[in-house]
Amino acid sequence: MTDIKFRSDMSVDLITHTANPDLMVAMAARVSTLGSDSLPTLATDKEEQSGLINFLIKNRHGSPVEHSSFTFLISAPIFVWREIQRHRMASYNEESGRYKQLEAVFYVPDHNRCLVQTGKTGAYTFVQGSEEQEVLVSDIVQYQSTESYYYYLEMLEQGVAKEVARMVLPLNIYSSAYVTMNARGLMNFLSLRTQNENSTFPSFPQREIAMVADQMENIWAAKMPITWTAWNNNGRVCP
Ligand SMILES: Cc1cc2nc3c(=O)[nH]c(=O)nc-3n(C[C@H](O)[C@H](O)[C@H](O)COP(=O)(O)OP(=O)(O)OC[C@H]3O[C@@H](n4cnc5c(N)ncnc54)[C@H](O)[C@@H]3O)c2cc1C
Repeated sequence: MTDIKFRSDMSVDLITHTANPDLMVAMAARVSTLGSDSLPTLATDKEEQSGLINFLIKNRHGSPVEHSSFTFLISAPIFVWREIQRHRMASYNEESGRYKQLEAVFYVPDHNRCLVQTGKTGAYTFVQGSEEQEVLVSDIVQYQSTESYYYYLEMLEQGVAKEVARMVLPLNIYSSAYVTMNARGLMNFLSLRTQNENSTFPSFPQREIAMVADQMENIWAAKMPITWTAWNNNGRVCP
């Protein structure tokens, strides 16, 4: 009997990133006036770096931010991947349902996931479901995922190709991919896929992609504190 696993979380790991990513932004901006002499001054003067980066973000000079990039390994359900992959300013390599048997790991909303939508299109709010709704969602999601996976396995056992058998799998099955974004692409992604009171242009992302975006933001902010602070203080607008 195959073990079917249910998760209610997303995972985001940083695989690699540009060394000194804040410094790189300042150097890229200063090359226009100092040429190759930009490095020595900026490397030692954090205040200069910080003032310059704040100026760039505030005035939407975005190209210097493109030199710093981050590669994440993300594991999320396919309905979340559909949203992530709408962001074209990123590079993706994802596990293949044609070449690999997909693992029996499925998303199920936990108690913290509000289940009921109220309000009009574009101005929804979500409220907690009743106990009956929580049980209903949890039971149906788990039942349907299990059934689908067994049909998937049955077809594989009968010699059907993976790319055909996968057609019965639901959108809540997990997939993993490497995602590389430069910091400008990240700012665009985070401005749309997080909810934050500092945002000049508030966005209302689905909770599950926000769970991914929040982790990406925490990782990015720790590696690029100067740029993150400038972006956050200037309304979280992508320059
Ligand atoms: C809350 C929310 C709801 C959404 N609902 C829907 C929906 O109902 N249906 C739907 O289809 N999508 C929906 N989307 C997806 C949305 O339309 C975008 O595809 C997605 O957010 C990616 O944004 P982006 O194009 O800015 O990002 P990227 O593709 O990373 O592009 C970054 C920037 O590069 C520039 N750029 C990239 N490609 C081009 C191009 N071809 N031409 C000109 N400039 C370009 C633009 O300035 C763009 O902002 C939704 C997104 C959000 C956040």
